[in-house]
Order: sequence, then C-alpha cells, then structure tokens
Amino acid sequence: MRIKLSPADIECSKAIRMARNHTCEHCRRQDGKMEAAHIYSRSFKSVRWSTDNILCLCFRCHLHFTGNPLDFERWLQSYLGQGFLDLLNEKRHSIQKDTAAYRKEVAAHYRRQIKLMEAGEHKLESFQ
Ligand SMILES: [Zn+2]
Repeated sequence: MRIKLSPADIECSKAIRMARNHTCEHCRRQDGKMEAAHIYSRSFKSVRWSTDNILCLCFRCHLHFTGNPLDFERWLQSYLGQGFLDLLNEKRHSIQKDTAAYRKEVAAHYRRQIKLMEAGEHKLESFQ
C-alpha cells in the first residue's frame, strides 16, 4: 500500500539518514541512495515518526527485506535485539491522532534537529 509522504515524513527521513551517516545499517555501504526503512509500516501513526522504528538502508537492502520479510525479521532480531523489538511492538499499538497540526510539529522538530546536526555534534532526538 502506497502512503502519500508529507513534509513530516520527508524531514524525518532526512534527519535519520543524516544521523546514521548515510550508511546502510545492514551492509554498511555508503555509496548510492539511502532510504528510510520502516520496521512497522507508516500506517502505525504512533511510531511513524519514531527514530526507533526507522532504519537507514540502501536501496538494495531495503528492496531485499521488503520482498523477504522473514530475512528482515531475523536480521532485526540480531541487530536490535528482541527486547527492543518487543517495546517497539507495544508502542505501535498506542493511539496517536494524526492531525495537520501534529504533522506540522513533527516536520518542525526534525527540521530543527537537522539544523542542530549540521551545526556540529548533536545526537538526533526522536519526536515520538
Ligand atoms: Zn545495504
């Protein structure tokens, strides 16, 4: 299912790719286009803009994992650990209203985070 990307998604994606040094978290490649890959899909609003739910993956790894969900799950378990994934799973079920005002706040938060990272040593803070 295709979901239309809003400025909140675009700024969040940019901030995450920047914070992870434009390096694929799976194959460690640094060349080519990096993508923000969601663990739980964007339809889960409570984690849609959470840095815990988004990985920086290269196009190839993202495509591979999208087509091979069991490979993705196995890799996530070794990369992030079951405890982390259990917490994320709980968080995705919490209620989050999705309003224009909320998305505006998300976009502004990540725009600010990008500016702080550009200015020097700053660790990306998650909005959610
Ligand atoms: Zn990769």
